[in-house]
Amino acid sequence: MDLIVEDAVVVTMAAGAGTAESLLVRDGWIAAVGAADQVRAAAAAGAAVVRLDGATVIPGLIDAHCHVADVGYLAAAADCSQPSAPDIPAIQARLREAAGRTPEGSWVTGAGYVEYKLREGRHPTRADLDQAVPGRPAVVYHTSLHAAVLNTAALAEAGFADGQPDPPGGAFGRDSGGGLDGVIYEGPMFALFERNLREDLIRMGAAERVRLVQMAARRLAALGLTAACDADMRRDTYAAFAEADADGLLGLRIYGMVVHDQLDWLQEAGLQGRRHSPRLATEAVKIWADGGMSSRTAAIYGTYPVPPYGSGIMYFSPAELTAMVRDFDSRGLQVCIHAQGDRAIEIVLDTYAEVLAGRDGNPRRHRIEHGGAMYPPLAARAAALGIVVVSQPGFMSTLGDGFAEAFGDHSDQLYAFASWQRAGVTVAGSSDAPVITPDPRLGLRDAVLRRTGAGRVLGPAERLPVRDALALYTTRAAFASHREREAGSLEVGKRADFVVLEENPLEAEPERITDIGVLATVLDGEPVYQSVSLFPN
Ligand SMILES: [Zn+2]
Repeated sequence: MDLIVEDAVVVTMAAGAGTAESLLVRDGWIAAVGAADQVRAAAAAGAAVVRLDGATVIPGLIDAHCHVADVGYLAAAADCSQPSAPDIPAIQARLREAAGRTPEGSWVTGAGYVEYKLREGRHPTRADLDQAVPGRPAVVYHTSLHAAVLNTAALAEAGFADGQPDPPGGAFGRDSGGGLDGVIYEGPMFALFERNLREDLIRMGAAERVRLVQMAARRLAALGLTAACDADMRRDTYAAFAEADADGLLGLRIYGMVVHDQLDWLQEAGLQGRRHSPRLATEAVKIWADGGMSSRTAAIYGTYPVPPYGSGIMYFSPAELTAMVRDFDSRGLQVCIHAQGDRAIEIVLDTYAEVLAGRDGNPRRHRIEHGGAMYPPLAARAAALGIVVVSQPGFMSTLGDGFAEAFGDHSDQLYAFASWQRAGVTVAGSSDAPVITPDPRLGLRDAVLRRTGAGRVLGPAERLPVRDALALYTTRAAFASHREREAGSLEVGKRADFVVLEENPLEAEPERITDIGVLATVLDGEPVYQSVSLFPN
């Protein structure tokens, strides 16, 4: 059945094309786009017609780096974010309530706090959590997912004891007597999060796992996203996506970046590098080279002027990294390496240069994830090697003030999108949710304004024109995931993945981009989200 979408401002994002008035959807694909009479003429008799009263249609947005399963998992956790939970008593109340609905055996879980936004201006402690949830494990994750606080039962179950030294790649918070105060940072936090997610997924059973995936997909679809690269797919989360997909309940395209230590499983299961369906693929592999920017653990030249005053951490030696990349490349996988600090980025570029030597460019489109401190000489090298960089404009307003503190004079050169593009790097946009909100409107606005929470503009010369900002989440993100033939722009022969917005983001005041309402999100010609009833279900 043909579907005509008309009386719209269609921002096609096709190269050299402006806006169109109308588009024709046939069997989930775009069959025509252009002027209203042309599209009408191309439609079969009896086509359904949806009139949009001048609303804007843009290509389905693609989040090129998002921890999708984590978004679903934490959506069910107690909301401990600010301003919703303004102080520690509010967090305690949320945890008490969550305890009532958390099955025995699972940890009572909260998420989303930022210590400096709490009235007390500090992390909650194990004692605070013990008051709310005594006798069974409870955890509250920091919004960055680089820290968490555990109660006494959780510390015991995790094997963390007073007197234990800090683990490699991480640290424990301590009270005045030197005992653990319940806060854990970095390495032990990542291990704990992964363990809890895995155990809860196993405990859940298929139906609940599918619900978790659906919850994440719905949340993203409501923000105008039709596809996401899942930045840490593991065996258990793959299974959850595959179950949802098999049931026809995966309302989002997932391009899985499979965690490097899970590839043997993937290969043994015969799933390596395969496209499983139009909505689920595992063609990429994820490696972490260094730590994070907001935790000041990204590997840099020099030392941070702020705690923990180090130079950051590297997870692998250059030789190990090169061996891994060579292996994955030879198996046909696209390699995506988390690299934030300039020292890490240089090592990753050395690795890519070695593996790509003698090849015609970068055919698998190996990527750098984040690229925070990719200063001009590094950007020039990345461009020469054809490396794709997937970055996060939305960090500007959410984490930018912390970057300025940690990077001083260099902070104007962080996430230097305009310079990178001028150097010839293909840059794609993403959120890194749940580190920050998955809302792509925030990323769009921040790519244009680069304003921190405190109102400082970080790198005014790096502000992007709004059309370039939109390209990060459409054409460029499609390229970054090898999907430019079918997604990223609204052209004949591509999938009918699009978003209806109440206003054209290319013409709105940049300040107001985050307020533009998403009216509908359409995947394969079918609505997966609508805030008003526009499309027949
Ligand atoms: Zn990430």
